[in-house]
Amino acid sequence: MPSHTRGLTLDLDAALKGIVMFGWLEAEGLSGEPLGEAFTAERDASIRELMRRSMGRSAADLPGVAETRGMFHRLGVDPTKTRPSSEALLRRVPELDLVMGPQHANRLDTLLARVETGQQVVATDEQHILEDITTARRDSKVCAWVNVIYGCNERCTYCVVPSVRGKEQSRLPEAIRLEMEGLAAQGFKEITLLGQNIDAYGRDLPGITPEGRRQHTLTDLLQAVHDVEGIERIRFATSHPRYFTERLIDACADLEKVCEHFHIPFQSGDDAVLKAMARGYTVDRYRRIIERIRERMPDAAISADVIVAFPGETDAQYRRTLELVEEIGFDQVNTAAYSPRPNTPAADWPDQLPEDVKVDRLQELNTLVERKARERSARYAGRIEQILVEGTNPKDPEQVMGRTRTNRLTRSPTTRLRQTTQLAIHLLLQTTYVHAQLLQHRTNQTVLLNNQGLQQMQRTQNPMLTLLR
Ligand code: SF4
Repeated sequence: MPSHTRGLTLDLDAALKGIVMFGWLEAEGLSGEPLGEAFTAERDASIRELMRRSMGRSAADLPGVAETRGMFHRLGVDPTKTRPSSEALLRRVPELDLVMGPQHANRLDTLLARVETGQQVVATDEQHILEDITTARRDSKVCAWVNVIYGCNERCTYCVVPSVRGKEQSRLPEAIRLEMEGLAAQGFKEITLLGQNIDAYGRDLPGITPEGRRQHTLTDLLQAVHDVEGIERIRFATSHPRYFTERLIDACADLEKVCEHFHIPFQSGDDAVLKAMARGYTVDRYRRIIERIRERMPDAAISADVIVAFPGETDAQYRRTLELVEEIGFDQVNTAAYSPRPNTPAADWPDQLPEDVKVDRLQELNTLVERKARERSARYAGRIEQILVEGTNPKDPEQVMGRTRTNRLTRSPTTRLRQTTQLAIHLLLQTTYVHAQLLQHRTNQTVLLNNQGLQQMQRTQNPMLTLLR
C-alpha cells in the first residue's frame, strides 16, 4: 500500500449507483470510505448536489473536483469523461495522479503501478467491460447487489446518466451466474440484479432465438440464475416501462425466488410531458403493466419515481400525475421537483417553472403519496409475513431488521433469534404494527425456519400458519 496520498478521479455516478468502484476497490484491499458518510447517505443524491456539498474549500475554484479525506485525496467528477478534458483536468490539478472511468476499474492495480513510478495517468477510453469489474459493494452479509448492465442508451431529456455512463454494456449470463454462486458460497441469501435500465439487459449481446427474439433478455437472465443453490431471493432494479414485457411479468410470477416488488418509475401522469421527457411510453402502457403485474401477483408491491414541475408542465398536466398516483396506489414513490442538470436538453429550455410552483406541487404530491402508502400498508395488519433477517437494529439491539418479499422493512423482537449465530434467518411473524413504510412485529410467537422449513412453506403455501395461532 503506498504511503503517500493519492489523487484519483472516478465516475461518481458509478460510485453512487452501482457502488461498483468501491466494492472493487475493497476487493483489492484498498478499502476506505472515500466520501465518508456523505457517500452512503447521499447515494441517491444528484451528482451535482453531491459535488456541491462535498466540495472542499481548496477545490472550490475547480469545477468537477471534490475534496475528500482518506487515502484518495481527491475524488473528482469528469462529467464529459473524454480524454482531452481529463488531461486538461490533470494539468489544472497537478495533485491528481489518476483520472479513470469505471470501465477501467479492473485495471486499477496496473494504473496505480504506473502512478507509483511518478506518472499522471488518464484511463478514460471507451472499451468493453472486462469481467472482474463487477464486484458490487455488499453492505450486509445477507443481501448483495450484482451489476448486470452498465450505461444507458435512452435519452431522457432531464437525465445526465447517458453522458456520464456511456452506452449499455451487458455482462454475460455465465459470468453473472458465477458471481452469484460465489456469493451463495459466502452465505449471501438475497441478490438484487442492478442496471440503470435493467430491462434493456442483453440487447447489446449477440444472438437471436428460433422464434426471432433476442437471445439474451432480463427474462432469460432470471431463468438462467434462478436455480443458484443457496440464493433464496432475487430482485432487480431499475425497470423502464418502455421495455417491461408481459413475458418478464409472467417469469416473475412463475419463478419462486423472484420477489414480488417492482420499482418502475413513471415520471409523469401526462402523455405530453412523457413525450417531452423522451420516455418512450404512454400513461396507458404504464397502467397496463401494473394491471398485468397485479393480475399475476395480486400482492405485489409497486414503487416508482416521479418528477413534478418539468419545464412547461401545466397545472392540468400535473393534476394528471396526482390522478395516476391516486389510481395506482403505490407502496412507495420517490418524488422530486424538476431540477436542471448540466449538459441535458431540458436544462436549456426556456419554460422553466418558478421555485414556488415546484415547492407547492411537490408538497401536495408528497401528502398524497404518504396517504396512499398508508392505505397500502394497511393490508399487512395481522398478516403473517416471511422475513429475511438482515441484521440487528442499530438503534435497538433487542430488535432485528429484515424485509418481506415485497421489500417492506420490518423490525422484530430477537426473542428466539439470539439462540442462533446465523444471520440469514427466515421468520414468520404476525404484523402488529403498520407504518407507511415499516412493519413492526411484537409477537413472541416467532418461528424460525431453516431452509427445509422454507421450502416446505413455499410448497404448501404456509404450513407454519397454525403454529402461530
Ligand atoms: Fe436516465 Fe432515462 Fe437512462 Fe434512466 S432511462 S438512466 S432516466 S436516460
